[in-house]
Amino acid sequence: MCALTGVIVTPVTAPTFLTSSGVGRKGTWTAIPSGQFTMSKALLYDATLCIGCKQCEQACATQNNLAYDDGVASEEYQSAHKLTCVLTRNEKFMRKLCMNCQEPSCASVCPVGALQKTALGPVTYDASKCMGCRYCMVACPFSVPKYEWGKLFPKVQKCIMCPDRVANGKPTACAEICPTRATKFGERDELIAEAQKRVRDNPNNYVNHIYGLEEVGGTSVLMLSSVPFETFGYKTNISKDPLPMLTYRVLSHIPDFVPLGGMALGGLWWITHRREEVALAEGKQVSSKKNGGKQ
Ligand code: SF4
Ligand code: SF4
Ligand code: SF4
Repeated sequence: MCALTGVIVTPVTAPTFLTSSGVGRKGTWTAIPSGQFTMSKALLYDATLCIGCKQCEQACATQNNLAYDDGVASEEYQSAHKLTCVLTRNEKFMRKLCMNCQEPSCASVCPVGALQKTALGPVTYDASKCMGCRYCMVACPFSVPKYEWGKLFPKVQKCIMCPDRVANGKPTACAEICPTRATKFGERDELIAEAQKRVRDNPNNYVNHIYGLEEVGGTSVLMLSSVPFETFGYKTNISKDPLPMLTYRVLSHIPDFVPLGGMALGGLWWITHRREEVALAEGKQVSSKKNGGKQ
């Protein structure tokens, strides 16, 4: 058990898959065998089927208790209040959302295990653990996690792939609502085979690239398009290696910095949560006085 964070850590010699655990020193990561993800779920977004109706945006907002109106609908970028967006370029459409990487670098750098890759596919977030260090925002190769800068108790926001729905055998909210099945939910292996077949059967309809099949070691969101992915700002020269592996290699050459950073972050976490507790207690006292001392 890590003395600073209370997180149980399992020493590993070869990081087959690295999740967020402990303070990030060589040999202090929890390893999950990559085979555990062979039957994981995924989304296949086929931009050639998309009609740009943005119902996925609205369903996502509802699912995540976020406001959605015409103003939000017109925003063509991901933000702390808009976790997925549909871009339009020359009458072509493209979704943006967290890729829910198979081996997520956001989770690998999170010092307190607030971000976790689940065996079913979603990369989940636990706000009660988060200390707001924002390492995840720097580590994500797709610049996905956003911070609620304007809030008193800010959280990190990103698409977490509807983990409760997925755990109950349901599709994600965006896939369920999609009227054309441009966004489809299913087994990752089956969706890969389906995507390959679509490209093979209609080579003139698609660029020969399933985005997310290999990028950063593979992701739980797969994409097909008739125009190059760069058109919509997707990086195609991105590493095929899982980035947590690269992060691990770098960290393993910095023997002392990371534990020291962990101590500082542990202190930051304590201060942040202490402030929240004090603010909550003060709020309770004020409301108790207003109610004449009744709780
Ligand atoms: S896209 Fe970024 S935020 Fe999403 S799982 Fe991958 S590294 Fe994490
Ligand atoms: S901001 Fe929160 S979720 Fe992101 S790395 Fe720091 S503790 Fe983890
Ligand atoms: S709901 Fe489906 S068709 Fe509509 S914008 Fe989203 S992905 Fe495209």
